[in-house]
Amino acid sequence: MNNLSQSVRTRFAPSPTGEVHIGSIRTALFAFLFARHHNGVNVLRIEDTDQSRKVDGAVENMISVMLKMGIEFDEGVVLQNGKIEQVGDYGPYIQSERLDYYQNHVKQLIEAQKAYYCFCSSERLDELRKEQTALKQPPMYDRLCRKLSADEVAQKLSEFESEEKKPVVRQALPEEGKTVVKDLVYGEISYDHALLDDQVLLKSDGFPTYHLAVVVDDHLMKISHVIRGEEWIPSTPKHILLYQAFGWEAPNFAHLPLILNPDKTKLSKRQGDVAVEDFLAKGYLPEVLLNFVALLGWNPKTEQEIFTKEELVQQFDLEKVNKSGAVFDIEKLNWMNGMYLRERSNEELLKLVSPFLEQGGINIADYPNEFLLAIIEIEKERLKVLSQIVEHTSFYFTQPEYDTAILVWKKADSADAKQKLSVVIEFLNTLSEADFQTTVIEEKLKSWIAKKQFDTGSVLWPLRVSLSGLERSPSPFELISALYKNGGLSTVISRIQTAIDKLN
Ligand code: GLU
Repeated sequence: MNNLSQSVRTRFAPSPTGEVHIGSIRTALFAFLFARHHNGVNVLRIEDTDQSRKVDGAVENMISVMLKMGIEFDEGVVLQNGKIEQVGDYGPYIQSERLDYYQNHVKQLIEAQKAYYCFCSSERLDELRKEQTALKQPPMYDRLCRKLSADEVAQKLSEFESEEKKPVVRQALPEEGKTVVKDLVYGEISYDHALLDDQVLLKSDGFPTYHLAVVVDDHLMKISHVIRGEEWIPSTPKHILLYQAFGWEAPNFAHLPLILNPDKTKLSKRQGDVAVEDFLAKGYLPEVLLNFVALLGWNPKTEQEIFTKEELVQQFDLEKVNKSGAVFDIEKLNWMNGMYLRERSNEELLKLVSPFLEQGGINIADYPNEFLLAIIEIEKERLKVLSQIVEHTSFYFTQPEYDTAILVWKKADSADAKQKLSVVIEFLNTLSEADFQTTVIEEKLKSWIAKKQFDTGSVLWPLRVSLSGLERSPSPFELISALYKNGGLSTVISRIQTAIDKLN
């Protein structure tokens, strides 16, 4: 740990408008990892000043998704017994409960002439925008109200006394010079003041805009590092100017690169899932999502790709965050999930897949545990996402439907397949219970085939297909051994007999 320790305070400041986007969880994760790495404090603040975008239950949902993934907060909004509580000394941490703070701070700015009332009607602003667009100029407020005298302002304000809607307040930005943003990821970016708009700080309903609220709160909550998506970079010079207007020291800024689809467009719903909830519902493990999301824009500069949360905390730092967009590679996520799944014991995996099997209409309680575990043992190699379990294993539970043609091995014909299956049944009937373990049945069948001088494929192909109903499936030995555990030899034979009947 370096000398940042103790002083680091990060925050995640979502606007709860619905599902948790992969991009949001990445921001939350990086803020969390950075805070933990430096023994700092991680704050959760809810930015709900845009009341029209508010969604009921979104905060609870967001926190529970983050908790599932292991992203924790030390201060701010937490869930206690399913209910939202606020903890820490600098709250309330829900912006709609902090309106007084913003309104009082705006008054200070107005007094210091760093902000001003704007009385322009929306019609005038529309007109202005149209004119500027026609002249190919960037749409900006022309600062008309900034030129009003104190008397004119007082006069106009008095007209609003009985009105519910008040005039907005705008930030009075310097007209000349420039502001340099020193970003911990993107380096120094210089912004010409001439191109910055006198943005609104306080809206006519008394609510702050994002810009005012974020600066006031980050200051009052003593945030040391503002970590957020790169879409906020253009707002940062305005924030820095606001800090200066208040006479406050600005925090450190670290913006995170965009997350991209494989075709390098911005990650969007159109090309697949983007909500963390969807990935969890499909059976991606939370710890895999954590590992995967950590690598979206952060590069440990080693070969290591698999990280526990503790390793991430230990190794994470903002210096290793890339500027260039991070491609969301679903193949890599699938690979990683499969790998994590294979590391689980069969018992653990069975617990994990059980809800998916039930959802798929398979009543777990109807089947012997050793049968279920045998299926897991066979299928875990191929499993990448838990929800695939139903598609991969349904043939174990119900006699499969299939096209008779696939029973016939490429070098044989239907009569041969039928004859071989009949003698297999005879042979299986001569075996005893102990012979139905995978390795034993493999050995027994193979030596019987050799003794009979059959072509191996002419026996094993139709046998395997009769058991699985699939052109490609696990070996007949694995299948016999597993199916035997659900009702004994009769289950195995009944499938082979069904195949024989189909071949008639
Ligand atoms: N409320 C903003 C958002 O939804 C927060 C941006 C910031 O972190 O400053 O992304």
